[in-house]
Amino acid sequence: MYNINLILNKKVNLTVKKIILSIIIFLNILYSAEVQELPWPKGVSFLTFLEKHSIPQKLYFDLEKEDKELCSEIVAGKRFFLYTEDNGDFNQVLIPVSEDIQIHIYKDSSDIIKFQTLPINYKEHTESIAIPITVSVSYDLQKATGNATLAVQLKSLFRGIVDFRKMQKGDFIALKYTKKSLYGRPHGLPELKAAMVEINGKEYYRIKNNKDDKYYDEKGKGFSKSFFFKIPLTYKRISSKFTKKRWHPVLKRYRAHLGTDFAAPRGRKIYAAGNGRIEFKGRRGGYGNTIIINHGNGYKTLYAHQNGFRKGLKRGQRVKKGHHIGYVGSTGLSSGPHLHLGLYKNGKAVDPLKVIRKPKTTGLTVKHRATFLANTKEIIKVFQYEMKSENRKQATKLDRLTYKSEVKKL
Ligand SMILES: [Zn+2]
Repeated sequence: MYNINLILNKKVNLTVKKIILSIIIFLNILYSAEVQELPWPKGVSFLTFLEKHSIPQKLYFDLEKEDKELCSEIVAGKRFFLYTEDNGDFNQVLIPVSEDIQIHIYKDSSDIIKFQTLPINYKEHTESIAIPITVSVSYDLQKATGNATLAVQLKSLFRGIVDFRKMQKGDFIALKYTKKSLYGRPHGLPELKAAMVEINGKEYYRIKNNKDDKYYDEKGKGFSKSFFFKIPLTYKRISSKFTKKRWHPVLKRYRAHLGTDFAAPRGRKIYAAGNGRIEFKGRRGGYGNTIIINHGNGYKTLYAHQNGFRKGLKRGQRVKKGHHIGYVGSTGLSSGPHLHLGLYKNGKAVDPLKVIRKPKTTGLTVKHRATFLANTKEIIKVFQYEMKSENRKQATKLDRLTYKSEVKKL
């Protein structure tokens, strides 16, 4: 049994406390509350958490299906904020379930405990950086940006085109990327908007087109991805669609469902949606029997509520698209047999159907081509200025723009 006091992190800095307290004031629930920032303990389910804080489990069982599934998105190690009253009683908790959604459980003015989902209002910064290689791409990029995942993304963008092991001192890279921060700390993974690699005097470009979220070279030539997803079962109907931060005008709250639900009879075979490796196989809170496949390139798929797994299937095993992995069921918290399919891109839940049904042709439409090329020209101008011999002596951070995350109300 875990004890939340034992893992109490006393290092929550003052700024964070101030921000959190201002949220509490904003929420109009002003108590002399103690704020703790804690990592979600391993092996602790949402229900165990409620029990620990003497919150009736009814709170969970009365939730709608989508909200129950959201609770299953809580992963061990994820940091959350807990507020307790002076006598140690529960006051409220904020648990992030994805980059932009958090669960908020709080005591209302009549001391009734309520559940709601709230958007996370992170800040987004766009930065450009030009880096002369001194040791290796991974080393120099991490040293200049403090981020280890940018190099992974960069390498994956130029896979098969650039051999990064052959990069030498004097070669050059330039990137434009966005990163998110919450309470002044990094939040989620950065996203590459443009990249240039100069190796042996030759330049290679990849620029993201905002309209279709795909990468093109400087001339607007697209790259077909080596994999595409397919719907992993034959289903009766889609019983619940992907929704994110949708404001519900009647319930007056946000709704989120981080996947697509396919209704199908119990025992119906489930297949891998794409080539990949079995990363997780087992029980996962309200998701019941769950499999997670890592497809590389930042994509993962999650298959929940399974009746059982295919015999002999092992964690770490490689599977091909269409490989039988399990059976439709109703395990975990589920109102009837269905497959909940989640799709994650760099840790962020995205709409599986949008990705699966995306047209498989590559290339810019005539309409978007001119905008893309004009935007690209500007980026290249900035990158090339930094590449001039008199400027390419050390890593340089360029423009910096800040945006707040957008919260859309319908
Ligand atoms: Zn679902």
